[in-house]
Amino acid sequence: MNVLMVASECAPFVKTGGLADVVGALPAALSRVDVDAQVVLPAYPPLFPLLPEGTEVARFDDLPGGSGRIVKVTAQGITLLLLDAPQLFDRPGGLYVDENGKDWTDNHLRFGALSMAGARIAMGAIDGYQPDVLHVHDWQAALAPVYLRMAGRDRPRSMLTIHNIAFQGRFGPQVLDRLHLKTDWFHPEGLEFHGDLSFLKGALMFSDRITTVSPTYAREILTPEFGMGLEGVLQARAGALSGVLNGIDTDAWNPADDTALAQTYDAKTLKRKADNKTALRAKLGLDPDSSGPLLCVVSRLTNQKGLDALLDAVPHLVERGAQLAVLGTGQPELEQGFRDAALAYPGQIATHIGYDEGLSHLFQAGSDAILIPSRFEPCGLTQLYGLRYGTLPVVARTGGLADTVIDANIAAIQAKAATGFVFTDVTAAGIAQVIDRLVDAYADPKLWQTMQRAAMRHPVGWDSSAQAYRDLYAELV
Ligand code: ADP
Repeated sequence: MNVLMVASECAPFVKTGGLADVVGALPAALSRVDVDAQVVLPAYPPLFPLLPEGTEVARFDDLPGGSGRIVKVTAQGITLLLLDAPQLFDRPGGLYVDENGKDWTDNHLRFGALSMAGARIAMGAIDGYQPDVLHVHDWQAALAPVYLRMAGRDRPRSMLTIHNIAFQGRFGPQVLDRLHLKTDWFHPEGLEFHGDLSFLKGALMFSDRITTVSPTYAREILTPEFGMGLEGVLQARAGALSGVLNGIDTDAWNPADDTALAQTYDAKTLKRKADNKTALRAKLGLDPDSSGPLLCVVSRLTNQKGLDALLDAVPHLVERGAQLAVLGTGQPELEQGFRDAALAYPGQIATHIGYDEGLSHLFQAGSDAILIPSRFEPCGLTQLYGLRYGTLPVVARTGGLADTVIDANIAAIQAKAATGFVFTDVTAAGIAQVIDRLVDAYADPKLWQTMQRAAMRHPVGWDSSAQAYRDLYAELV
């Protein structure tokens, strides 16, 4: 089975979020279940060194925004089909934003070109390569199934995966022409969303299959609270929609063999995890003698993640004898809020503003629990790292968080199945309550260790999800 993926990010090459992790990990996992997945990705500057190694396999003169060529290269085990179109992608700044953080004004052309290149390859533009399924990720690739249908094709079959429905790719109707989109498809039953063109809606209307990254999020986005205006479209396509959980890279995230830790450990040598707590406390200037649990946050600091509510719960957390270590960047008022909290409670709260992959591993290993009080969370990765590291996740009951953490209620504790703490109310009071439960459980070392072992046994790799994707592809073809 040949699957052509189209995406705007792919770890470890270019990443702004979880989308990149999925696109980077899925091809290897799929190859283990006999699916060959190749990835169409823009050739951004960090990828230029790969271009000379690659082979030109296709050339297009009439993409939105000009011409481009496809360079095929294999790197880190992934076959990439790089869209080399320097006028669109060779620039400093971010993947989607300029150096001032403003969206590039030609994002519709940049990702229209990516989508069209994907559609052309799906239709056989590369000699000797015919994909069976076109699998597109998020709005940046979402016009590919539209171009396929516009060419009058219903093969290969197509699938959209939504990683976060908050990002939809909305542009004024004046861009239709430059994107070579048929104007008679611009109506509410087609590409139009409240007077604008919506890339994501295009794929919702014209893909054969729609998935998102957890079963709970798949249900949630059918409601106005989570659907971000697209719930009606999704309800109409509910029969084609399902959720497949993300996995994590269990080689990169392995406490038994992680060079970023002060001390490696596994479920049998859990005691050694304490050395990481000592190291993390020392690094952050936290009181080494505090007897309470050390909680951490590793996150974008945004309201989506419920961190404003956590900030309000900080006094309670300190009162209960817990410590808090925060690693993140994001909204300035939240960065400032956690900096101020660290100043107000020296030794109990520490804040590290910045993005630091290595440090995030030590945070996971050195903490007793990780707090993820998200208001919505399509899948979430940090709770999965937490499970793997025996760092109990404390999560809001939403999206993939609800699907991956088993709450320490009485029945789950008795069955030795509990892996963390799940709560419903993302407010300071709701967080205070769950912290009370956590502090009580931490005071019972036997219970805590049983939960850690259950957490570390929980499967968090890609194997079952890769099979689920393979089954969906097989159904489609
Ligand atoms: P989202 O994609 O919404 O940001 P996820 O939980 O799906 O949330 O993925 C976030 C990823 O980014 C995780 O791999 C997490 O460890 C990482 N991350 C977030 N903030 C930081 C940070 N400040 N330093 C290092 N890694 C971070």
